[in-house]
Amino acid sequence: MFEFRITHKDGRARCGVLKTVHGTVETPVFMPVGTQGTVKAMTPALLKDIGVRMILGNTYHLYLRPGLEVIKKGGGLHRFISWEGPILTDSGGYQVFSLSVERFRGMKSRVEVTDEGVRFMDHLRGDLHFFTPKNVIEMQLTMGSDIIMPLDHCIPYPSDERLSREALERTLLWLDQSVEAMRDHNDGCVLFGIVQGAFDEALRIEAVERTLERDLPGYAIGGLSVGEPRELMMDFTDLVASLLPQEKPRYLMGVGKPEDIIYAVGRGVDMFDCVVPTRSGRTGTLYTSRGVLNIRHSRFRLDFGPPDPECDCYTCRNFSRAYLRHLFVSEEITSYVLNTIHNLRFYVRLMERVRSSIKEGKFYEFAKVEMEKLRRKV
Ligand SMILES: [Zn+2]
Repeated sequence: MFEFRITHKDGRARCGVLKTVHGTVETPVFMPVGTQGTVKAMTPALLKDIGVRMILGNTYHLYLRPGLEVIKKGGGLHRFISWEGPILTDSGGYQVFSLSVERFRGMKSRVEVTDEGVRFMDHLRGDLHFFTPKNVIEMQLTMGSDIIMPLDHCIPYPSDERLSREALERTLLWLDQSVEAMRDHNDGCVLFGIVQGAFDEALRIEAVERTLERDLPGYAIGGLSVGEPRELMMDFTDLVASLLPQEKPRYLMGVGKPEDIIYAVGRGVDMFDCVVPTRSGRTGTLYTSRGVLNIRHSRFRLDFGPPDPECDCYTCRNFSRAYLRHLFVSEEITSYVLNTIHNLRFYVRLMERVRSSIKEGKFYEFAKVEMEKLRRKV
């Protein structure tokens, strides 16, 4: 079962309801990233308590560790990690792309992309693997994801015209093979299309048109956050979102600073994922209603106020900035837990407030005020 329905609109921003076999979520939604089958420093119970309803899993990482055999024998990803809500899994394309731009132990490149798929050396042991559009779908079906992403050819910024064209053609070729691999699977999971087309307007427009020909249940804006300036990322989000059909969910992959989310919601994006709230929590950066705060700072040594006076999370209700600073400086594991609880709650509340403002027809005023706050440092 998969359904998407728009309930409210304010300009281009929209609120909707996304129904999957594993539950219903309101959009715009933020999905925390559970790279290795866990949102780092969190338990499923904590996530639920914070208000998280949907998470993302990384196919590349789960395929390497623990491996699909373990997940299959463990009863599928939901049961194995004990998460009852919807899960979206990515295709591994982005991780493989990341490997291709890194350098590996002095070797030239550890990734080779052909029309057949991607041959790569993993980051753990340097073993060779081959991802094809078909086996990547099979992996996600084995995991039992609610939303499956096809293998796409993601390229860095900047890329020349020839490579941009090649990546688009290959992504579409792979999409057809992915659709084929999904045939005969009616157990409720769905496949989204990914729009590539690099940073070339004409190519992006063509990418949207040709991806839409496949008539899929949802569409992702891909190939962004690959090293381009922020303005370019926003311009291309705007362009692609303006061309996607109203009635289908739109997912902006891997983009998720609060200000980027607010911008993209204003352009009609419904779904987001990003490591920012969890990763920055572990490095001591806290998002608050007064601006961004680095808890490591010595000026918090004797600050016994809550991290964010307006936040209702467990961390803010119980602990002071001075204590969180002490835990962080002492490298205590609890520091990761408490900071992550707060940042995820900040994101969940941000999305709740985004949705309320759309419902009240006041999203753009809300966006202006919030953007201003987010630029501040505490
Ligand atoms: Zn808090």
